[in-house]
Amino acid sequence: MEKTKHLNKKEEQIRKKTYRYLLKQNTPDIDQKMALIDQLLHLEKRERYRYLYDLICDYFDQEFKEKNICAFSCGICKRRQSMIDQGTIKDTYQNGCCYSYRKKELCKYYVEGKGCAIKNIACKVYTCHYLRKRGYHYHVKDLYFARYFFNKKQFFYMENTFFQDKTIVLNGILERE
Ligand code: SF4
Ligand code: SF4
Repeated sequence: MEKTKHLNKKEEQIRKKTYRYLLKQNTPDIDQKMALIDQLLHLEKRERYRYLYDLICDYFDQEFKEKNICAFSCGICKRRQSMIDQGTIKDTYQNGCCYSYRKKELCKYYVEGKGCAIKNIACKVYTCHYLRKRGYHYHVKDLYFARYFFNKKQFFYMENTFFQDKTIVLNGILERE
């Protein structure tokens, strides 16, 4: 990405705070990480949010995949398997939390055999009570590249706006600046 503009005061602050945060965390490869921050800072606002949105989604996709956090096996996740083991009676145990017991239906964005058809940060960052009790609890603000680009309202909004596609969530993020 090409550098196209001078940083304003707020952007300089984001840069400084991120750098200090990385130092404090003893993070390896700080220069490489700051290169990503510089790329983001030199993007136009909407484009920057769009790029950040994808980075956040990719991060959580990778995290959940690598650690096999929901541990799906034949359409049944870890939590639902524990319900089966405990004899909890439900209409189905399939498809994890993409199936709503309250509505008794699968999310409209769920595609059989493929999974989710949209990109939603809240769904990606969410962990159920069962997982949280086992130490899996995530927040977007803990990602160094996102930490200083959003305010509290934006973090809250993106972590709690489920079942909505990227365009809608991006508009909501922009409205909360
Ligand atoms: S978050 Fe919990 S309920 Fe949802 S898919 Fe993962 S293990 Fe299952
Ligand atoms: S929007 Fe959320 S609940 Fe719906 S299919 Fe995608 S991940 Fe599952």
